[in-house]
Amino acid sequence: MTGANKLRIAVAGGGLLGRLAAWRLALGGADVSLFEAGELRRPAGACWAAAGMISPLSELVHSPMEIYHMGLQSLALWPGWIAELEQATGTAVRYRRNGSIVVAHQRDSSQLDQFQQDLAAVLGDTAAAELQPLNAEQICGLEPDLQHFTGGIFLPNEADIDNRHLLQLVLAELQRLGVHLEDKTPVECEPGAVLLRQGRERRGFDLVVDCRGMGARELARDLRGVRGEVLVVETREVCFGRPVRLMHPRYKLYAVSKPDGTTVIGATEIESEDLSPISLRSSMELCSALYALNPAFAEARILESNVNLRPAVPDNLPFVRTGEGLIQANGLFRHGYLCGPALVCRLLEAVRETTESVVVQ
Ligand SMILES: Cc1cc2nc3c(=O)[nH]c(=O)nc-3n(C[C@H](O)[C@H](O)[C@H](O)COP(=O)(O)OP(=O)(O)OC[C@H]3O[C@@H](n4cnc5c(N)ncnc54)[C@H](O)[C@@H]3O)c2cc1C
Repeated sequence: MTGANKLRIAVAGGGLLGRLAAWRLALGGADVSLFEAGELRRPAGACWAAAGMISPLSELVHSPMEIYHMGLQSLALWPGWIAELEQATGTAVRYRRNGSIVVAHQRDSSQLDQFQQDLAAVLGDTAAAELQPLNAEQICGLEPDLQHFTGGIFLPNEADIDNRHLLQLVLAELQRLGVHLEDKTPVECEPGAVLLRQGRERRGFDLVVDCRGMGARELARDLRGVRGEVLVVETREVCFGRPVRLMHPRYKLYAVSKPDGTTVIGATEIESEDLSPISLRSSMELCSALYALNPAFAEARILESNVNLRPAVPDNLPFVRTGEGLIQANGLFRHGYLCGPALVCRLLEAVRETTESVVVQ
């Protein structure tokens, strides 16, 4: 596609999915406009609150098999996409394929056994390669800051990404590619047009791609928000080389260290669309679980507490819904970084089919 023949595409929503889609569509030669209700530099959606884990195995215990397969597809896509971004922007993104580690205190070892059995049952023959039991020495070898644990499981085929940095670099790349960026511009979507909420201006396009997450409710009526809560803490005392999960009878804590010395911790998944601040109980549970991971967290500083909604549909599977002049992509739930690239590929396929164009990247 060149010049006047370029396909004019509006992408609504500049969160994770919207900006990845805008990037790949622009690379494919489309003339892309990206509309974001909040600020593109710091999007208001779930993508900014997220921990950035890419965990097909940890998620498999309570997710459909399709999530696992989309996760594997995304794991295969991320390194190439990141290499392209790094080459274009001259900036490194921290993407670690270091696996992840699951631990439990001795008194909760049955939780670890149960997790291992559940996962092994789903994985079948591949279980031996995908999950490796660890003793105290092996745990310390992988994560010296987990010296209090005697039993754990290593999941070598998991990854994590410095998600906020990734979002910023994709934004820089969109600017470089000449994508029209419309910050603080909430829109409604209809076939072949977006309607700017402020001023009610209607703008026509060849195609509208709706990636508004929870903001897409007027079109995707089966969407629901699932509340997630995280704390961001800072300490020089503890740094993990991979995501760490703590199995506990009441909550499953995850802790992900970031390159800036912060650690994102979360646990809760609440079937509620309440966006009010984190509760005292949740923050006490998160903090005490973190302290149980390593007492050196006691002096960590709490920099942020974030609450956001994961966009989900009843089967908890992400979807691409195609209509004339309008494609909706959504439902990434707790799997945005895990399944995002795979969903973008489905979206590009839908764009190709509806427009018969060669948007191929
Ligand atoms: C606490 C928490 C932790 C998480 N951790 C992980 C993790 O470790 N790994 C993982 O894979 N996933 C994780 N997730 C899930 C992941 O964040 C989501 O799946 C992902 O962000 C969904 O991407 P999205 O672009 O569809 O939606 P969002 O990221 O929510 O982005 C939607 C965007 O659309 C914009 N928008 C809304 N309405 C409009 C409108 N009318 N016009 C224009 N723009 C609009 C919003 O401002 C927002 O920027 C986590 C989520 C939460 C809440």
